[in-house]
Amino acid sequence: MTKVGIPRALYYYQYYPMCKAFFEALGAETVVSPPTNKAILSCGTARAVAETCLPVKVFFGHVKFLADRCDCVFIPAIRSLGKKAYHCSKFLGLPDMAKALIPECPPILDPEIDLNRGRRRLCQIVHTLGRHFTSDKGKVKRAAEEALKANSAYNNRMCKEGITPIQALEGSCQSKEEMESHENVPPRLDIGIVGHPYVIYDDYINHRLMSRLQAMGGRIFTPEMMGEEALHIAMTRLVGREHWSFEADIVGAAECYLEARLDGIISVAVFGCGPDSMMINMAQRRARQLKTPFLHLSLDEHTSEGGLVTRLEAFLDMVHRRNRICV
Ligand code: SF4
Repeated sequence: MTKVGIPRALYYYQYYPMCKAFFEALGAETVVSPPTNKAILSCGTARAVAETCLPVKVFFGHVKFLADRCDCVFIPAIRSLGKKAYHCSKFLGLPDMAKALIPECPPILDPEIDLNRGRRRLCQIVHTLGRHFTSDKGKVKRAAEEALKANSAYNNRMCKEGITPIQALEGSCQSKEEMESHENVPPRLDIGIVGHPYVIYDDYINHRLMSRLQAMGGRIFTPEMMGEEALHIAMTRLVGREHWSFEADIVGAAECYLEARLDGIISVAVFGCGPDSMMINMAQRRARQLKTPFLHLSLDEHTSEGGLVTRLEAFLDMVHRRNRICV
């Protein structure tokens, strides 16, 4: 059985169930790298050029981990997943960068995904990808249908049950209500998180931000819990047409949290990310207009855990004090 490697980074958090359903329906087995750890980050950092952003360095660490554990690695070149909303150029260059930086990597399955080029083109790409596993066109079509079904079940589950991608992927039954059951914590604060899924759900990159916040008494809200439609409506109201693929997860989510009158918003970005610098600025200005506390965290591989914890504690203290004054 062909083993297809899927790095636990970047598109993994949004599309793993879809990829898994597709490859398994074609008779392949998927192999996923473990959660990011020190060795994976060090390896990615050693291979990538210094200017590369942290999530892409982490991605190469995961590809290196998979290099001798699978027969091929799935690294799509993603240009756009929405109408005229583009991924940053690093996503498009991922397969080429992986080939250059990790020469020991097995063959790379590198379809170019650009939804702006129409459904017909996408079908051709899916069939070309499927031909690596079977010459039966019907089987590829059925695999694509399974993949779409898995993707919509995954998204619906997160939205309906109020759970994060990690909980949905791990099959955790811990719901939003159960996440509130931490003992000996100060009064509850509703905190919305904005950022790229591969930053906010990678515990190693963000120093376990979510569990820290929960332990400090935060009830966490993430973009997936708001639902795709609500995110897009909120984003469109604020910026008009979407320009970047993650604009709904950042600008749209911030606007949804502001409408829901959460106690505070935390944005988690990585140092040197061009799209983030524009999107987060917009969310930050909007929070200022509506007088909602907003904390911006910028991470890189040198971010100290202690510094991050201090900032979180100071932010939550400030929100608590503010709530007491406003009561
Ligand atoms: S959007 Fe930003 S964080 Fe994501 S890959 Fe591009 S530069 Fe890196």
